Amino acid sequence: MDIEKIRKDAELFTKELEEEYYQNLGGFKDELNISAVYDRYSHLFQRSTVDFVKKLRDGSEGEERRQNSLLFSFIAGEYIGNMVKKLDEKYMTEDAKATVNVDGQEVPYRSIAIMIANEDSREKRSEMDDLTDPIVEKHNEILRERMLRLHDLAEDLGYGNYMEMIEDLKGFRIKPVNDMMEKFLRDTERIYVDAMNSALEKWGITVDGAERHDVSYLFRAKEYDKYFPKEGVVENWKATMRGIGIDPDAQKNVILDTEERPKKYPRAFTMPLEVPDKVILFITPHGGQDDYQAMLHEGGHTEHFAHVDRVHPFEYRYLGDVSVSETYAFLFNYLPTDELWLKQYLNIGDEDASDYLGFAFLNKLFFLRRYASKIIYEVELHSKRDIDGMDRRYKEIMEKGLKMRHKANRYLLDVDDGFYVAQYLRAWIFETQLRKHIIEKTKRDWFNSTAAGEILKKLWSYGQKYSVEELAEMVGYEKLDTEPMKDEIMKNLT
Ligand SMILES: [Zn+2]
Repeated sequence: MDIEKIRKDAELFTKELEEEYYQNLGGFKDELNISAVYDRYSHLFQRSTVDFVKKLRDGSEGEERRQNSLLFSFIAGEYIGNMVKKLDEKYMTEDAKATVNVDGQEVPYRSIAIMIANEDSREKRSEMDDLTDPIVEKHNEILRERMLRLHDLAEDLGYGNYMEMIEDLKGFRIKPVNDMMEKFLRDTERIYVDAMNSALEKWGITVDGAERHDVSYLFRAKEYDKYFPKEGVVENWKATMRGIGIDPDAQKNVILDTEERPKKYPRAFTMPLEVPDKVILFITPHGGQDDYQAMLHEGGHTEHFAHVDRVHPFEYRYLGDVSVSETYAFLFNYLPTDELWLKQYLNIGDEDASDYLGFAFLNKLFFLRRYASKIIYEVELHSKRDIDGMDRRYKEIMEKGLKMRHKANRYLLDVDDGFYVAQYLRAWIFETQLRKHIIEKTKRDWFNSTAAGEILKKLWSYGQKYSVEELAEMVGYEKLDTEPMKDEIMKNLT
């Protein structure tokens, strides 16, 4: 076996796969033919290739080991993905075809979550949520088989359990993130309960009586729509970028696809077709605060990929620690929680701005507590092979962290592969630290500083070569630390 050939084919495979997703999600063609791509590159995902690259990684050091580790992670990840591909296809097909009958109308199961978030009547929301239960139960049959297969694969590959495998593949420890977030849950519990209770008070409920659908409705926050008009979504992002010295209209490698096409994927997403030479940002603006945040988030990913130094090998341009790109996405995503940005960029009065900030920080705290609870649950789920009784544990752990009611049957649906939960959490933690660093080096309103743009361009040029832990050290921190994130939330919610 030849490592250079594996490396070259891995890059070609990645680009062809991206192209397939681009055609489908972009709404240019109906079918998604990823199996054909996998078939063309099947030699990459043989067990023998996995073992070969692992051996190579274990025998290398320094820069070579860094590069080989990323390649191994990629090859092993795709090998595992390939082993559960049939189940994924079955699941995706059933998921796309499923419908529920709402007031005599057949509604796609996939659009029910948006309907629930927009429904003013609590009773109707609850009814719609219950209608999805039989579909979830049916999905669980496939998901249970899939989860057990993943756990078996970890053992086949020589690991003690799935969690150990992911730690080795991704190159970071999960338990320390779990422990930091357990402390975060304890420290923010009082403030969370008080803020949720006061937000829910207008409907006569408290957090311990709230259901998931109540919270979807609460965070849909229609009352703020007027400050986030559809027409302003893209221009708001472009203006923000110009503030740090980047003019998206002048970037030849950044393509904005804002066209409305019937089959285009409705949510914003970034497609790095060629890093850094061709990065496409898809969005179909619909307005609202979440849409502005989605645009800023994807814009962060886009600018990151567009600024990666092209001298880097494939591994650093395409692979690596995804928490790094998520950090840059969060950095812009959370600009609406910055009072100065809010007042500069949106037509909002002082009183409504302070009202919105309270809302936005509660929203952030909710998500942090949700992901903190999810990591605690997933550590338990992935520490042993067997998953019996985990539906009950899911309900207990989520209810302990979020105080509101949860349905046990979401215990597999609410899990992303490969501890993505930990990657988001590391990004959330590092984002606050990085922002603090940028402010110290520039000014309080860093988004009006081209020097801030220069700091970011330097970091972006590395691609995802370094982990967030390494980047934290690089900008002067000892380690990832949840304290700045916690302090900021506490300050803004009292
Ligand atoms: Zn993202």
